[in-house]
Amino acid sequence: MIYDDSNVFARILRKEIPAQLLHEDHLCIAFRDLAPQAPVHFLVVPKRPIARLADATDEDKATLGHLLVIAGKVCRDLGVAHDGFRTVINSGVRAGQSVFHLHVHVLAGRDLRWPPG
Ligand code: AMP
Repeated sequence: MIYDDSNVFARILRKEIPAQLLHEDHLCIAFRDLAPQAPVHFLVVPKRPIARLADATDEDKATLGHLLVIAGKVCRDLGVAHDGFRTVINSGVRAGQSVFHLHVHVLAGRDLRWPPG
């Protein structure tokens, strides 16, 4: 899928619209989800323009690994790592992806059922 840089996360990355930032480094940012589905719900978003996980390539390996490391770090910072958290990547329309800039959802702070939706 061709990356379209008018999506909302590209605009947050360009600081055109605000977000409740939890972390920023040279590879990614993490910020709170606008419509949280759990007491803690944040997104880890790479700075690289990757539309979907389905579009990731070998060149994205380090970035994708980094997103998961940061997910765990932010959970430790927020005090929810010990009790448990869930990471989710929706890739494509049937999986529920609505913003076409790859992102990792991180949910915590309540019991999470399995299987999801
Ligand atoms: P997905 O449906 O997997 O693409 O997830 C997109 C997520 O982005 C949803 O959970 C939305 O609530 C969230 N979202 C959309 N716009 C914003 C925004 N401006 N700031 C923070 N989260 C947002």
